[in-house]
Amino acid sequence: MKIDIFGLTIEELTEVLASKGLKKFRAKQVFQWLYQKSVFDFSAMHNLSKADIALLEEHFTVLPRQITILREQNSSDGLTSKLLLGLPDGNSVETVLMHHDYGYSVCVSSQVGCDMHCAFCASGLKGAVRNLTAPEIIAQVYLFNERLRKKNEQALQQSLQQAATQAATQKAQQTQPASANKQNKQGKPDMVSRVVVMGSGEPMLNFDEVLGALDFFHREDTCFMSYRSMTISTCGIIPGIQRLAEQGKPINLAVSLHAVRNDLRTSLMPVNKGFPFVDVIAAAEAYSEAGGRQVTYEYILLKNKNDSVQDAELLSNYLRYKHASVNLIPANPVPEQGFERPSKAAIERFVKILQKNRISVTVRKEMGKDIDAACGQLRAKFAKEQEQK
Ligand code: SAH
Repeated sequence: MKIDIFGLTIEELTEVLASKGLKKFRAKQVFQWLYQKSVFDFSAMHNLSKADIALLEEHFTVLPRQITILREQNSSDGLTSKLLLGLPDGNSVETVLMHHDYGYSVCVSSQVGCDMHCAFCASGLKGAVRNLTAPEIIAQVYLFNERLRKKNEQALQQSLQQAATQAATQKAQQTQPASANKQNKQGKPDMVSRVVVMGSGEPMLNFDEVLGALDFFHREDTCFMSYRSMTISTCGIIPGIQRLAEQGKPINLAVSLHAVRNDLRTSLMPVNKGFPFVDVIAAAEAYSEAGGRQVTYEYILLKNKNDSVQDAELLSNYLRYKHASVNLIPANPVPEQGFERPSKAAIERFVKILQKNRISVTVRKEMGKDIDAACGQLRAKFAKEQEQK
């Protein structure tokens, strides 16, 4: 059976390739193709010899090439792109690319399905199937890096062609068209620069693989991504928050709070039984104090459930004087669960109360509402379609 080399560190890759007779410098070249150029086909790695390419193809696979794209949805504004990925074992996961002013971020899934059974969420409709491995999490980002590279290459080709036609017709000297190869401010081609672990699954229940993936993105010889550009979102698994604190890495923590009345939160998020939200806030506050990072509390606004004046005041009381901010998420309705989005006026009222109480608050920019962007919605829809076939 072939060995999959995706997600190995350079040291591990060197050892694995050497076991099949490949030289150390080859491992370095392959590593650069994979993680700096997002090229996953051995045959496209131009500086390798034909013999070595054949050897690599005979013995190894590269996970992103083993993954199939089952569905792709692009939002009408062109800023959000969601993929449903078919994994080699037949499972599927969602991953989302978002184009912000500051660059590209990817929302990765950490598990196939989810066992948390939050009432408003589509990911947990059928429970968790399994944890994702670190390479499977890394591949979600690199599949988008590959797409960004290809887009750049196409743009470069087009502008070179345009320049050539222009030069031919006007006989003007034009060697470097202005729009050639759009690059970011650092002069590097576009790559994903932020990762949020906020897709399907509960990352704190797959701690080692999630951290393994984030550590991989942080490496200087891969994405060289700062931990400050990474966020883990949890429904409130306290031991996970504590483990994260022990890491001493400035990873951002987001907590899905969604309600500040105990009964209501338990009915929306059964995890509240084991880890009551008051204790979760205390653990998150300790995390923030240990690392100096502000905690973001996510709060889905559900019409007539958790959007009252009283809820806004209570939320303010719990978070007052904490190093925290609130991200309000007007609910993406999941048809199966019958939740509705509050009116614009109700959302504004909630925001105003938090502001009056000096709680830092943002309302999540709606990205990709037209592409089933809430967790698990695309996967659930796909599964339903398959059942109906
Ligand atoms: N298990 C983790 C990460 C995955 S959920 C967590 O709970 O934080 C990521 C975020 O999407 C959570 O805040 C979750 O509550 C939110 N979410 C789930 N379903 C949603 C929906 N229908 N509309 C809006 N946000 C939703």
